[in-house]
Amino acid sequence: MTNTLTQLASRLKVGVTPQALPIPGTNQVENSAGGYSFPVNDWTRLQRFLILGSEGGSYYASEQKLSADNANGVLNCIQNDGPRVVREIVAVSKAGRAPKNDPALFALALCASLGDIETRRLALDALPEVARTGTHLFHFAAFCDGARGWGRGLRRAVGRWYETMGAEKLAYQALKYQSRDGWSHRDLLRLSHPKPGSQAHGILYHWMTQGWPGVGDEPHDVEALRQIWAFERAKRAGTEDEIVGLIRDYKLPREGIPTQFLTSPKVWEALLEDMPLAAMVRNLATMTKIELLTRTSDATKRVVSMLNDSDRIRRARLHPIALLSALTTYSSGRGVKGNATWTAVPKVIDALDSAFYTAFGALEPTNKRWALALDVSGSMGGPPIAGVAGLTPRVASAAMAMVTNAVEDDVQMLAFSHELRTLSLSRKQRLDDVLKAVDKIPMGATDCALPMLWASKTKAKVDVFVVYTDSETWFGNIHPVEALRRYREESGIAAKLIVVGMVANKFSIADPNDAGMLDVVGFDTAAPQLMSDFSLNNM
Ligand code: CA
Repeated sequence: MTNTLTQLASRLKVGVTPQALPIPGTNQVENSAGGYSFPVNDWTRLQRFLILGSEGGSYYASEQKLSADNANGVLNCIQNDGPRVVREIVAVSKAGRAPKNDPALFALALCASLGDIETRRLALDALPEVARTGTHLFHFAAFCDGARGWGRGLRRAVGRWYETMGAEKLAYQALKYQSRDGWSHRDLLRLSHPKPGSQAHGILYHWMTQGWPGVGDEPHDVEALRQIWAFERAKRAGTEDEIVGLIRDYKLPREGIPTQFLTSPKVWEALLEDMPLAAMVRNLATMTKIELLTRTSDATKRVVSMLNDSDRIRRARLHPIALLSALTTYSSGRGVKGNATWTAVPKVIDALDSAFYTAFGALEPTNKRWALALDVSGSMGGPPIAGVAGLTPRVASAAMAMVTNAVEDDVQMLAFSHELRTLSLSRKQRLDDVLKAVDKIPMGATDCALPMLWASKTKAKVDVFVVYTDSETWFGNIHPVEALRRYREESGIAAKLIVVGMVANKFSIADPNDAGMLDVVGFDTAAPQLMSDFSLNNM
Protein backbone atom coordinates (compact mmCIF):
# COMPACT_ATOMS: atom_id res chain seq x y z
CA MET A 1 0.00 0.00 0.00
CA THR A 2 2.63 2.52 1.10
CA ASN A 3 4.77 1.33 -1.74
CA THR A 4 1.99 1.97 -4.25
CA LEU A 5 1.35 5.43 -2.83
CA THR A 6 5.03 6.26 -3.00
CA GLN A 7 5.14 5.19 -6.61
CA LEU A 8 2.07 7.28 -7.32
CA ALA A 9 3.60 10.32 -5.61
CA SER A 10 6.80 10.00 -7.60
CA ARG A 11 4.82 9.82 -10.79
CA LEU A 12 2.90 12.97 -9.87
CA LYS A 13 6.19 14.77 -9.32
CA VAL A 14 7.96 13.86 -12.53
CA GLY A 15 4.96 13.41 -14.79
CA VAL A 16 5.82 9.89 -15.85
CA THR A 17 2.92 7.47 -15.93
CA PRO A 18 3.02 4.10 -17.64
CA GLN A 19 0.41 3.96 -20.37
CA ALA A 20 -1.25 1.01 -18.63
CA LEU A 21 -2.37 3.51 -15.93
CA PRO A 22 -4.28 6.78 -16.21
CA ILE A 23 -2.38 10.02 -15.61
CA PRO A 24 -3.46 11.08 -12.09
CA GLY A 25 -5.81 14.06 -12.00
CA THR A 26 -7.10 13.57 -15.57
CA ASN A 27 -10.27 12.03 -16.98
CA GLN A 28 -8.40 9.39 -18.97
CA VAL A 29 -10.32 6.21 -19.74
CA GLU A 30 -9.24 2.71 -20.58
CA ASN A 31 -8.96 2.26 -24.34
CA SER A 32 -9.67 -0.94 -26.28
CA ALA A 33 -6.02 -2.00 -26.08
CA GLY A 34 -6.00 -1.87 -22.27
CA GLY A 35 -3.98 1.36 -22.08
CA TYR A 36 -5.32 4.77 -21.08
CA SER A 37 -6.22 7.60 -23.43
CA PHE A 38 -8.34 10.74 -23.20
CA PRO A 39 -11.99 10.38 -24.21
CA VAL A 40 -12.95 12.76 -27.02
CA ASN A 41 -16.16 14.70 -26.52
CA ASP A 42 -19.31 13.71 -28.39
CA TRP A 43 -18.88 16.48 -30.98
CA THR A 44 -15.38 15.36 -31.96
CA ARG A 45 -16.76 11.85 -32.10
CA LEU A 46 -19.58 13.02 -34.36
CA GLN A 47 -17.03 14.56 -36.74
CA ARG A 48 -15.04 11.32 -36.82
CA PHE A 49 -18.17 9.33 -37.56
CA LEU A 50 -19.39 11.70 -40.28
CA ILE A 51 -16.03 11.49 -42.04
CA LEU A 52 -14.69 8.02 -41.36
CA GLY A 53 -17.98 6.15 -40.87
CA SER A 54 -18.16 2.72 -39.33
CA GLU A 55 -18.02 0.57 -42.46
CA GLY A 56 -15.94 -2.55 -41.84
CA GLY A 57 -15.73 -1.80 -38.10
CA SER A 58 -12.33 -1.32 -36.49
CA TYR A 59 -9.50 -3.58 -35.39
CA TYR A 60 -11.21 -3.88 -32.00
CA ALA A 61 -14.90 -3.71 -32.88
CA SER A 62 -17.18 -5.28 -35.44
CA GLU A 63 -18.97 -3.01 -37.88
CA GLN A 64 -22.19 -3.61 -35.97
CA LYS A 65 -20.65 -2.69 -32.63
CA LEU A 66 -18.84 0.38 -33.98
CA SER A 67 -22.04 1.54 -35.73
CA ALA A 68 -24.08 1.08 -32.56
CA ASP A 69 -21.49 2.99 -30.49
CA ASN A 70 -21.49 5.80 -33.01
CA ALA A 71 -25.29 5.89 -33.19
CA ASN A 72 -25.34 6.33 -29.41
CA GLY A 73 -22.80 9.12 -29.74
CA VAL A 74 -24.95 10.85 -32.36
CA LEU A 75 -28.01 10.45 -30.12
CA ASN A 76 -26.15 12.09 -27.22
CA CYS A 77 -25.38 15.05 -29.48
CA ILE A 78 -29.01 15.21 -30.66
CA GLN A 79 -30.22 15.31 -27.07
CA ASN A 80 -27.65 17.94 -26.26
CA ASP A 81 -28.20 20.24 -29.25
CA GLY A 82 -30.14 18.74 -32.16
CA PRO A 83 -30.02 21.82 -34.43
CA ARG A 84 -26.22 21.88 -34.11
CA VAL A 85 -26.07 18.24 -35.22
CA VAL A 86 -28.08 19.11 -38.34
CA ARG A 87 -25.73 22.05 -39.05
CA GLU A 88 -22.64 19.83 -38.69
CA ILE A 89 -24.13 17.18 -40.99
CA VAL A 90 -24.96 19.76 -43.66
CA ALA A 91 -21.50 21.36 -43.39
CA VAL A 92 -19.61 18.07 -43.81
CA SER A 93 -21.90 16.74 -46.52
CA LYS A 94 -22.21 19.88 -48.66
CA ALA A 95 -18.49 20.56 -48.72
CA GLY A 96 -17.79 16.94 -49.70
CA ARG A 97 -15.40 16.56 -46.76
CA ALA A 98 -16.16 12.85 -46.24
CA PRO A 99 -15.26 9.94 -48.54
CA LYS A 100 -18.85 8.72 -48.29
CA ASN A 101 -22.15 10.47 -47.69
CA ASP A 102 -23.76 7.51 -45.88
CA PRO A 103 -22.80 8.50 -42.32
CA ALA A 104 -24.28 11.98 -42.95
CA LEU A 105 -27.51 10.44 -44.30
CA PHE A 106 -27.64 8.05 -41.35
CA ALA A 107 -27.15 10.86 -38.81
CA LEU A 108 -29.73 12.99 -40.63
CA ALA A 109 -32.23 10.10 -40.46
CA LEU A 110 -31.59 9.89 -36.70
CA CYS A 111 -32.23 13.64 -36.36
CA ALA A 112 -35.39 13.33 -38.45
CA SER A 113 -36.62 10.39 -36.40
CA LEU A 114 -35.49 10.88 -32.84
CA GLY A 115 -34.86 14.60 -32.44
CA ASP A 116 -37.24 17.06 -30.79
CA ILE A 117 -39.80 18.84 -32.99
CA GLU A 118 -37.40 21.60 -33.99
CA THR A 119 -34.60 19.15 -34.82
CA ARG A 120 -36.90 16.93 -36.85
CA ARG A 121 -38.13 19.92 -38.84
CA LEU A 122 -34.61 21.21 -39.51
CA ALA A 123 -33.43 17.73 -40.52
CA LEU A 124 -36.28 17.25 -43.00
CA ASP A 125 -35.74 20.75 -44.40
CA ALA A 126 -32.07 19.91 -44.97
CA LEU A 127 -32.91 16.73 -46.90
CA PRO A 128 -32.27 18.12 -50.44
CA GLU A 129 -28.92 19.57 -49.31
CA VAL A 130 -27.68 16.25 -47.92
CA ALA A 131 -29.49 13.82 -50.26
CA ARG A 132 -28.33 15.27 -53.55
CA THR A 133 -28.75 12.17 -55.74
CA GLY A 134 -31.34 9.46 -56.12
CA THR A 135 -29.02 6.98 -54.40
CA HIS A 136 -28.66 9.31 -51.42
CA LEU A 137 -32.45 9.54 -51.18
CA PHE A 138 -32.81 5.74 -51.22
CA HIS A 139 -30.21 5.39 -48.48
CA PHE A 140 -31.98 8.01 -46.38
CA ALA A 141 -35.30 6.19 -46.88
CA ALA A 142 -33.73 2.90 -45.79
CA PHE A 143 -32.24 4.52 -42.66
CA CYS A 144 -35.55 6.22 -41.77
CA ASP A 145 -37.46 3.03 -42.38
CA GLY A 146 -35.33 1.40 -39.67
CA ALA A 147 -35.59 4.29 -37.23
CA ARG A 148 -39.17 5.57 -37.54
CA GLY A 149 -42.45 5.09 -39.35
CA TRP A 150 -43.50 6.96 -42.46
CA GLY A 151 -45.24 9.85 -40.74
CA ARG A 152 -46.59 12.87 -42.55
CA GLY A 153 -43.51 15.01 -42.01
CA LEU A 154 -41.25 12.47 -43.68
CA ARG A 155 -43.65 11.91 -46.59
CA ARG A 156 -43.84 15.65 -47.18
CA ALA A 157 -40.05 16.02 -47.08
CA VAL A 158 -39.55 13.24 -49.62
CA GLY A 159 -42.31 14.76 -51.76
CA ARG A 160 -40.55 18.13 -51.66
CA TRP A 161 -37.33 16.44 -52.82
CA TYR A 162 -39.08 15.60 -56.10
CA GLU A 163 -41.03 18.86 -56.34
CA THR A 164 -38.07 21.18 -55.88
CA MET A 165 -35.66 19.44 -58.23
CA GLY A 166 -35.67 20.85 -61.77
CA ALA A 167 -37.23 18.48 -64.34
CA GLU A 168 -34.01 18.00 -66.32
CA LYS A 169 -31.99 17.18 -63.23
CA LEU A 170 -34.70 14.88 -61.92
CA ALA A 171 -34.83 13.04 -65.25
CA TYR A 172 -31.06 12.52 -65.11
CA GLN A 173 -31.18 11.32 -61.47
CA ALA A 174 -34.02 8.90 -62.18
CA LEU A 175 -32.24 7.50 -65.20
CA LYS A 176 -28.95 6.97 -63.37
CA TYR A 177 -30.27 5.53 -60.15
CA GLN A 178 -33.50 3.64 -60.54
CA SER A 179 -33.36 1.68 -57.31
CA ARG A 180 -31.00 0.89 -54.43
CA ASP A 181 -31.22 -0.75 -51.03
CA GLY A 182 -34.60 -2.26 -51.82
CA TRP A 183 -36.06 1.20 -52.55
CA SER A 184 -37.08 2.58 -55.92
CA HIS A 185 -38.49 5.88 -57.12
CA ARG A 186 -41.78 4.08 -57.60
CA ASP A 187 -41.91 3.21 -53.89
CA LEU A 188 -41.00 6.71 -52.79
CA LEU A 189 -43.42 8.41 -55.16
CA ARG A 190 -46.25 6.20 -53.94
CA LEU A 191 -45.44 7.07 -50.33
CA SER A 192 -44.92 10.77 -50.80
CA HIS A 193 -47.35 11.80 -53.58
CA PRO A 194 -45.45 14.89 -54.75
CA LYS A 195 -47.36 17.50 -56.73
CA PRO A 196 -46.30 17.81 -60.34
CA GLY A 197 -45.23 21.45 -60.57
CA SER A 198 -44.85 21.24 -64.34
CA GLN A 199 -46.02 19.07 -67.21
CA ALA A 200 -42.54 17.54 -67.34
CA HIS A 201 -42.67 16.60 -63.66
CA GLY A 202 -46.03 14.90 -64.21
CA ILE A 203 -44.69 12.83 -67.11
CA LEU A 204 -41.57 11.94 -65.13
CA TYR A 205 -43.58 10.71 -62.15
CA HIS A 206 -45.66 8.63 -64.53
CA TRP A 207 -42.52 7.19 -66.16
CA MET A 208 -41.01 6.31 -62.78
CA THR A 209 -44.14 4.54 -61.58
CA GLN A 210 -45.55 3.02 -64.77
CA GLY A 211 -42.95 3.25 -67.50
CA TRP A 212 -42.79 5.12 -70.78
CA PRO A 213 -45.91 5.04 -72.96
CA GLY A 214 -44.43 3.76 -76.23
CA VAL A 215 -41.26 5.14 -77.77
CA GLY A 216 -41.60 6.92 -81.10
CA ASP A 217 -38.83 7.82 -83.49
CA GLU A 218 -39.11 11.52 -82.76
CA PRO A 219 -37.59 12.97 -79.59
CA HIS A 220 -40.01 14.21 -76.96
CA ASP A 221 -41.47 17.72 -77.40
CA VAL A 222 -40.46 18.74 -73.91
CA GLU A 223 -36.72 19.30 -73.84
CA ALA A 224 -36.28 18.19 -70.23
CA LEU A 225 -37.66 14.76 -71.18
CA ARG A 226 -35.51 14.08 -74.22
CA GLN A 227 -32.85 12.26 -72.23
CA ILE A 228 -35.47 9.82 -70.96
CA TRP A 229 -36.75 9.37 -74.51
CA ALA A 230 -33.17 8.67 -75.64
CA PHE A 231 -32.77 6.18 -72.80
CA GLU A 232 -35.87 4.25 -73.89
CA ARG A 233 -34.81 4.57 -77.54
CA ALA A 234 -31.33 3.15 -76.77
CA LYS A 235 -32.95 -0.07 -75.59
CA ARG A 236 -33.83 -0.94 -79.14
CA ALA A 237 -30.79 0.52 -80.89
CA GLY A 238 -29.10 -1.97 -83.22
CA THR A 239 -25.77 -0.32 -83.98
CA GLU A 240 -22.89 1.42 -82.27
CA ASP A 241 -23.48 4.51 -84.39
CA GLU A 242 -27.08 4.81 -83.21
CA ILE A 243 -25.89 4.69 -79.59
CA VAL A 244 -23.12 7.20 -80.26
CA GLY A 245 -25.70 9.52 -81.85
CA LEU A 246 -27.99 9.28 -78.80
CA ILE A 247 -25.07 9.96 -76.46
CA ARG A 248 -23.90 13.00 -78.45
CA ASP A 249 -27.37 14.48 -79.03
CA TYR A 250 -28.98 13.79 -75.65
CA LYS A 251 -26.01 13.41 -73.29
CA LEU A 252 -27.05 9.91 -72.41
CA PRO A 253 -24.88 8.72 -69.47
CA ARG A 254 -23.26 5.30 -69.13
CA GLU A 255 -26.16 4.01 -67.02
CA GLY A 256 -28.43 4.47 -70.02
CA ILE A 257 -26.35 2.33 -72.41
CA PRO A 258 -27.40 -1.29 -73.05
CA THR A 259 -24.69 -3.68 -71.80
CA GLN A 260 -23.77 -5.09 -75.20
CA PHE A 261 -22.40 -1.69 -76.26
CA LEU A 262 -20.21 -1.19 -73.20
CA THR A 263 -17.16 -2.85 -74.76
CA SER A 264 -17.07 -0.42 -77.67
CA PRO A 265 -14.28 2.19 -77.68
CA LYS A 266 -16.42 4.44 -79.91
CA VAL A 267 -19.27 4.40 -77.40
CA TRP A 268 -16.94 5.17 -74.49
CA GLU A 269 -15.25 7.94 -76.44
CA ALA A 270 -18.64 9.59 -76.91
CA LEU A 271 -19.52 9.04 -73.24
CA LEU A 272 -16.24 10.61 -72.16
CA GLU A 273 -17.19 13.94 -73.75
CA ASP A 274 -19.75 14.69 -71.04
CA MET A 275 -18.70 12.26 -68.37
CA PRO A 276 -18.74 13.58 -64.80
CA LEU A 277 -15.32 13.52 -63.17
CA ALA A 278 -16.21 10.90 -60.55
CA ALA A 279 -17.55 8.52 -63.21
CA MET A 280 -14.45 9.08 -65.32
CA VAL A 281 -12.20 8.19 -62.38
CA ARG A 282 -14.24 5.03 -61.66
CA ASN A 283 -14.06 3.88 -65.27
CA LEU A 284 -10.37 4.40 -66.04
CA ALA A 285 -9.61 0.68 -65.98
CA THR A 286 -12.53 -0.13 -68.28
CA MET A 287 -11.53 2.56 -70.74
CA THR A 288 -7.95 1.26 -70.73
CA LYS A 289 -8.99 -2.37 -71.15
CA ILE A 290 -10.94 -1.58 -74.30
CA GLU A 291 -7.94 0.43 -75.54
CA LEU A 292 -9.59 3.80 -75.61
CA LEU A 293 -6.91 5.07 -73.25
CA THR A 294 -3.49 4.40 -74.73
CA ARG A 295 -0.14 6.09 -74.48
CA THR A 296 -0.96 8.46 -77.34
CA SER A 297 -4.75 8.62 -77.73
CA ASP A 298 -6.81 11.83 -77.65
CA ALA A 299 -9.00 10.25 -74.97
CA THR A 300 -5.92 9.99 -72.73
CA LYS A 301 -5.20 13.68 -73.31
CA ARG A 302 -8.77 14.50 -72.32
CA VAL A 303 -8.59 12.38 -69.16
CA VAL A 304 -5.28 13.92 -68.13
CA SER A 305 -6.56 17.44 -68.67
CA MET A 306 -9.68 16.66 -66.60
CA LEU A 307 -7.46 15.40 -63.75
CA ASN A 308 -5.28 18.50 -63.98
CA ASP A 309 -8.23 20.86 -63.75
CA SER A 310 -8.21 21.94 -60.11
CA ASP A 311 -11.41 24.01 -60.37
CA ARG A 312 -13.24 21.07 -61.82
CA ILE A 313 -11.99 18.73 -59.10
CA ARG A 314 -13.20 21.14 -56.41
CA ARG A 315 -16.53 21.81 -58.10
CA ALA A 316 -17.16 18.08 -58.44
CA ARG A 317 -16.28 17.62 -54.73
CA LEU A 318 -14.24 14.66 -55.77
CA HIS A 319 -12.87 13.19 -52.56
CA PRO A 320 -9.12 12.44 -52.33
CA ILE A 321 -9.92 8.88 -51.27
CA ALA A 322 -11.71 8.27 -54.57
CA LEU A 323 -8.56 9.39 -56.37
CA LEU A 324 -6.27 7.39 -54.10
CA SER A 325 -8.39 4.29 -54.56
CA ALA A 326 -8.36 4.76 -58.33
CA LEU A 327 -4.61 5.32 -58.29
CA THR A 328 -3.76 2.17 -56.36
CA THR A 329 -6.11 -0.05 -58.35
CA TYR A 330 -5.39 1.47 -61.73
CA SER A 331 -1.61 1.43 -61.36
CA SER A 332 -1.71 -2.23 -60.28
CA GLY A 333 -3.18 -3.15 -63.67
CA ARG A 334 -5.48 -5.67 -62.05
CA GLY A 335 -9.02 -5.49 -60.70
CA VAL A 336 -9.64 -5.93 -56.98
CA LYS A 337 -12.29 -8.55 -57.72
CA GLY A 338 -12.23 -10.93 -60.66
CA ASN A 339 -9.34 -11.44 -63.01
CA ALA A 340 -9.53 -8.37 -65.24
CA THR A 341 -6.15 -6.95 -66.24
CA TRP A 342 -5.04 -3.91 -68.21
CA THR A 343 -1.86 -2.06 -69.08
CA ALA A 344 -2.00 1.18 -67.11
CA VAL A 345 -1.05 4.36 -68.97
CA PRO A 346 1.76 6.14 -67.05
CA LYS A 347 0.44 9.66 -67.83
CA VAL A 348 -2.90 8.74 -66.28
CA ILE A 349 -1.21 7.36 -63.16
CA ASP A 350 0.78 10.57 -62.74
CA ALA A 351 -2.33 12.71 -63.24
CA LEU A 352 -4.21 10.72 -60.56
CA ASP A 353 -1.26 11.19 -58.22
CA SER A 354 -1.31 14.96 -58.56
CA ALA A 355 -5.13 15.15 -58.49
CA PHE A 356 -5.05 13.54 -55.02
CA TYR A 357 -3.20 16.60 -53.66
CA THR A 358 -5.42 19.02 -55.59
CA ALA A 359 -8.53 17.51 -54.01
CA PHE A 360 -7.42 18.77 -50.58
CA GLY A 361 -7.45 22.36 -51.87
CA ALA A 362 -4.60 24.83 -52.13
CA LEU A 363 -2.39 24.92 -49.04
CA GLU A 364 0.20 27.55 -48.13
CA PRO A 365 3.42 26.51 -46.38
CA THR A 366 3.56 27.56 -42.72
CA ASN A 367 7.36 27.32 -42.45
CA LYS A 368 6.99 25.55 -39.12
CA ARG A 369 9.13 22.53 -38.23
CA TRP A 370 6.95 19.43 -38.53
CA ALA A 371 7.34 15.86 -37.30
CA LEU A 372 4.77 13.65 -38.99
CA ALA A 373 4.51 10.35 -37.16
CA LEU A 374 2.62 7.35 -38.51
CA ASP A 375 1.33 4.75 -36.10
CA VAL A 376 2.12 1.50 -37.92
CA SER A 377 1.10 -0.80 -35.05
CA GLY A 378 -1.01 -3.92 -35.46
CA SER A 379 -4.36 -2.26 -34.78
CA MET A 380 -3.72 0.27 -37.58
CA GLY A 381 -3.71 -2.65 -40.00
CA GLY A 382 -7.43 -3.02 -39.26
CA PRO A 383 -10.36 -2.75 -41.67
CA PRO A 384 -9.83 -0.38 -44.59
CA ILE A 385 -11.14 3.18 -44.57
CA ALA A 386 -14.44 3.79 -46.40
CA GLY A 387 -14.39 0.19 -47.61
CA VAL A 388 -11.54 0.88 -50.05
CA ALA A 389 -9.59 -2.35 -50.57
CA GLY A 390 -6.08 -2.14 -49.13
CA LEU A 391 -6.54 1.31 -47.60
CA THR A 392 -5.88 0.30 -43.99
CA PRO A 393 -5.56 3.13 -41.47
CA ARG A 394 -1.76 2.73 -41.37
CA VAL A 395 -1.39 2.91 -45.12
CA ALA A 396 -3.96 5.71 -45.36
CA SER A 397 -2.02 7.74 -42.77
CA ALA A 398 0.96 7.80 -45.09
CA ALA A 399 -1.10 9.34 -47.88
CA MET A 400 -2.52 11.89 -45.45
CA ALA A 401 0.97 12.80 -44.19
CA MET A 402 2.16 13.29 -47.77
CA VAL A 403 -0.34 16.15 -48.13
CA THR A 404 1.48 18.15 -45.45
CA ASN A 405 4.86 16.88 -46.63
CA ALA A 406 4.13 18.22 -50.09
CA VAL A 407 3.77 21.85 -49.00
CA GLU A 408 6.08 22.18 -46.00
CA ASP A 409 9.86 22.50 -46.25
CA ASP A 410 10.93 21.29 -42.82
CA VAL A 411 9.38 17.89 -42.33
CA GLN A 412 10.62 14.79 -40.56
CA MET A 413 8.57 11.70 -41.26
CA LEU A 414 8.51 8.96 -38.63
CA ALA A 415 6.89 5.57 -38.28
CA PHE A 416 6.41 3.88 -34.94
CA SER A 417 4.84 0.98 -33.14
CA HIS A 418 6.90 -0.15 -30.11
CA GLU A 419 9.98 1.10 -31.94
CA LEU A 420 10.48 4.14 -34.07
CA ARG A 421 12.17 4.61 -37.39
CA THR A 422 12.70 7.69 -39.49
CA LEU A 423 11.28 7.62 -42.99
CA SER A 424 12.58 9.43 -46.00
CA LEU A 425 9.59 9.93 -48.25
CA SER A 426 10.07 12.49 -50.96
CA ARG A 427 7.21 14.58 -52.25
CA LYS A 428 8.29 13.40 -55.68
CA GLN A 429 7.59 9.78 -54.81
CA ARG A 430 4.32 8.48 -56.17
CA LEU A 431 1.62 7.74 -53.61
CA ASP A 432 1.16 4.11 -54.56
CA ASP A 433 4.91 3.58 -53.96
CA VAL A 434 4.71 5.41 -50.63
CA LEU A 435 1.80 3.19 -49.57
CA LYS A 436 3.67 0.04 -50.57
CA ALA A 437 6.74 1.16 -48.59
CA VAL A 438 4.70 1.84 -45.46
CA ASP A 439 2.79 -1.41 -45.86
CA LYS A 440 6.11 -3.29 -45.61
CA ILE A 441 7.13 -1.81 -42.23
CA PRO A 442 6.70 -4.53 -39.59
CA MET A 443 3.79 -4.03 -37.19
CA GLY A 444 4.06 -4.18 -33.43
CA ALA A 445 2.77 -2.97 -30.07
CA THR A 446 1.69 0.66 -29.71
CA ASP A 447 3.62 3.42 -27.99
CA CYS A 448 2.37 6.83 -29.13
CA ALA A 449 4.94 8.63 -26.94
CA LEU A 450 7.82 7.56 -29.19
CA PRO A 451 7.77 10.55 -31.59
CA MET A 452 8.22 13.00 -28.70
CA LEU A 453 10.81 10.77 -26.98
CA TRP A 454 12.70 10.59 -30.27
CA ALA A 455 12.74 14.40 -30.51
CA SER A 456 14.04 14.70 -26.93
CA LYS A 457 16.73 12.13 -27.52
CA THR A 458 17.96 13.47 -30.84
CA LYS A 459 17.45 17.13 -29.86
CA ALA A 460 15.39 17.59 -33.01
CA LYS A 461 13.69 20.98 -33.34
CA VAL A 462 9.97 20.42 -33.73
CA ASP A 463 7.15 22.97 -33.61
CA VAL A 464 4.35 20.57 -34.45
CA PHE A 465 4.11 16.86 -33.81
CA VAL A 466 1.42 15.20 -35.88
CA VAL A 467 0.49 11.69 -34.85
CA TYR A 468 -1.72 9.68 -37.21
CA THR A 469 -3.26 7.04 -34.98
CA ASP A 470 -6.27 5.28 -33.48
CA SER A 471 -4.99 6.43 -30.04
CA GLU A 472 -5.07 2.84 -28.76
CA THR A 473 -1.72 3.30 -27.02
CA TRP A 474 -0.67 1.01 -24.17
CA PHE A 475 2.92 -0.12 -24.47
CA GLY A 476 5.07 2.77 -23.24
CA ASN A 477 6.42 3.79 -19.83
CA ILE A 478 5.28 7.37 -20.24
CA HIS A 479 2.11 8.88 -21.70
CA PRO A 480 2.39 10.82 -24.97
CA VAL A 481 1.30 14.13 -23.38
CA GLU A 482 3.86 13.71 -20.61
CA ALA A 483 6.56 13.06 -23.19
CA LEU A 484 5.42 16.18 -25.06
CA ARG A 485 5.54 18.36 -21.92
CA ARG A 486 8.97 17.06 -21.14
CA TYR A 487 10.11 17.89 -24.68
CA ARG A 488 8.69 21.42 -24.33
CA GLU A 489 10.67 21.94 -21.13
CA GLU A 490 13.91 20.53 -22.45
CA SER A 491 13.81 22.22 -25.84
CA GLY A 492 12.22 25.52 -24.85
CA ILE A 493 9.91 25.13 -27.86
CA ALA A 494 6.18 25.46 -27.21
CA ALA A 495 5.62 22.41 -29.36
CA LYS A 496 2.09 21.48 -30.38
CA LEU A 497 0.51 18.10 -30.89
CA ILE A 498 -2.06 17.32 -33.54
CA VAL A 499 -3.76 13.95 -33.39
CA VAL A 500 -5.15 12.79 -36.70
CA GLY A 501 -7.84 10.26 -35.80
CA MET A 502 -7.82 7.45 -38.34
CA VAL A 503 -10.61 5.36 -36.78
CA ALA A 504 -14.07 6.52 -35.60
CA ASN A 505 -13.54 5.53 -31.96
CA LYS A 506 -13.80 7.72 -28.87
CA PHE A 507 -10.13 7.95 -27.85
CA SER A 508 -7.38 10.50 -28.28
CA ILE A 509 -3.85 10.90 -26.99
CA ALA A 510 -4.40 14.69 -27.01
CA ASP A 511 -5.28 16.33 -23.69
CA PRO A 512 -8.50 18.31 -24.30
CA ASN A 513 -7.44 20.80 -21.61
CA ASP A 514 -4.16 21.70 -23.31
CA ALA A 515 -4.64 24.51 -25.85
CA GLY A 516 -1.53 23.31 -27.67
CA MET A 517 -3.20 20.08 -28.70
CA LEU A 518 -5.79 19.47 -31.39
CA ASP A 519 -7.85 16.56 -32.69
CA VAL A 520 -8.61 16.42 -36.39
CA VAL A 521 -10.04 13.62 -38.50
CA GLY A 522 -8.03 11.72 -41.09
CA PHE A 523 -9.27 12.20 -44.65
CA ASP A 524 -11.43 15.14 -43.74
CA THR A 525 -10.58 17.32 -46.75
CA ALA A 526 -10.62 20.27 -44.33
CA ALA A 527 -7.99 18.67 -42.03
CA PRO A 528 -4.77 19.87 -43.72
CA GLN A 529 -5.96 23.48 -43.64
CA LEU A 530 -7.06 23.14 -39.99
CA MET A 531 -3.65 21.72 -39.13
CA SER A 532 -1.85 24.54 -40.83
CA ASP A 533 -4.05 27.19 -39.16
CA PHE A 534 -3.52 25.59 -35.76
CA SER A 535 0.25 25.53 -36.21
CA LEU A 536 0.11 29.28 -36.92
CA ASN A 537 -2.24 30.01 -34.00
CA ASN A 538 -4.98 31.10 -36.38
CA MET A 539 -7.73 29.41 -34.44
CA1 CA B 1 -2.27 -0.07 -31.95
